[in-house]
Amino acid sequence: MKMDCAELLKTKNGPLAEEDKNLIQKAYDFAKHAHEGQERKSGDPYFVHCFETAKMVARWGLDAHVVSAALLHDTAEDTKHALKKVEEEFGKEIASLVDGVTKLGHFKYREEERRWRKDGDHVADNFRKLIFALSEDIRVIFIKFADRLHNMKTLDALPQEKRNRVALETYEIYAPLAYRLGMTFAAGELEDLSLPYLFPKEYKWLIENVPQKFEEGEAYLQVVKKILEGDLKKNGVAPKEINFRTKRLSSIYKKLKKYDMDLDQIYDLVAMRIIVESVEDCYKTMGIIHGIWKPLPGRIKDYVALPKPNGYQSIHTTVFCVNQKITEFQIRTEQMNEEAQYGIAAHWAYTEAKEKKPYEKRRVVFADKKEAAWIKHLNTWQESRDPDKKGFIESLKNDFLQDRIFVVSPKGDVFDLPHGATPVDFAYHIHSEVGNECSGAKVNGRLIPLDHELRSGDVVEILRQKNKKPSDSWLRFVKTNAAKEHIKEVLRKKENLMSRLWNIRKK
Ligand code: MN
Repeated sequence: MKMDCAELLKTKNGPLAEEDKNLIQKAYDFAKHAHEGQERKSGDPYFVHCFETAKMVARWGLDAHVVSAALLHDTAEDTKHALKKVEEEFGKEIASLVDGVTKLGHFKYREEERRWRKDGDHVADNFRKLIFALSEDIRVIFIKFADRLHNMKTLDALPQEKRNRVALETYEIYAPLAYRLGMTFAAGELEDLSLPYLFPKEYKWLIENVPQKFEEGEAYLQVVKKILEGDLKKNGVAPKEINFRTKRLSSIYKKLKKYDMDLDQIYDLVAMRIIVESVEDCYKTMGIIHGIWKPLPGRIKDYVALPKPNGYQSIHTTVFCVNQKITEFQIRTEQMNEEAQYGIAAHWAYTEAKEKKPYEKRRVVFADKKEAAWIKHLNTWQESRDPDKKGFIESLKNDFLQDRIFVVSPKGDVFDLPHGATPVDFAYHIHSEVGNECSGAKVNGRLIPLDHELRSGDVVEILRQKNKKPSDSWLRFVKTNAAKEHIKEVLRKKENLMSRLWNIRKK
């Protein structure tokens, strides 16, 4: 395997400074030496893992400190070189990154979940650590994602039980977390890599049936592309790139479960992606497409004006295309495309490149960004949790990591909620008081019942009534654990009061 340090010195944010190059080279030599003679379970030299991890974060555009820490990320754990040595050689900042990754290293997801009653605490503590690391220094998570990606690629070398545990943890925790941070590329990779371990039969079916559909889809889009190129040119739009994106196996799998494994029901198996110069060109291109082919009503999605909660921006439209075949187009600028793949890592890399300041200062600039708000929210949540540890993992999965919809407040603020959420969930999401006093709701201007299932893009207005109390019937339909807990708490208080009154009356 080729492991040339020069590969780590390429960056998309312009040439690296001489000192940065030297730093990476030094970390490269140090890690290589530290892991000398060690092997991975696969039989590869251990250093391969460090190199691949570093290559990944370099590809995400992260700076020399992160690349160096990625090279060094296992030296404190797997070798005699203790953390102290790393600090002496590379300074506090890199040592603290390495330390952060090392501390995150010890999840025992499934194994311990099975032994819930005995030591469930331990699992929840690990996730607390994960969330804490996320809010303390987001760069630790970038390294962890890269580390996990390479571990998943070499998972075959591990014994089966361990394989399944790591795959499950990847699928249920790491991938949704990456997705939530807008790192859809890493999220998709992580999910795809888990698939053969978690759903072997379905995976086999997919690789037997999907590739042929991809080929057909691409051949078809070649024809469409020619027509589109002609019309774009006529109208003065010069696209930077037109390519075809094939849907990931893991997302095909999720969709197929809803459609009885019928591949023909999935319109966006292969979609056309058009990268243009400016936001203006995005809309122009959409207009040109609609001029040639009629759009499907209700399938035009403007994530440029209204980005998804994870920051995703793009215009999607689905049209009756050549031969009336239903076809999806995605239109976006280059920057949107970059961010759509690397999400918060792209934002961070951008902050890094722009703010030539020490880490702490950059962090402050970054924390003000909207993308960081979710992390703050997550951290406040974990700090406020009571020691009921079992509920902890459930809420984390349910309230934060599940499939999301996003809804809009009358002021235009975008909020995200788990799939299936109701106006009551939305009310509690805003504030517990808003939830408690919720007396009705309007969706898109119309009054609806409180158990109404919200959909992405809905404008939701909560009607409040002072001193109103939640009803226990709400527990039947609310989706988020946060709402459930608030409702139960109020009901408990009410019950206590009632029984006190009852006792007084009895006396
Ligand atoms: Mn590692």
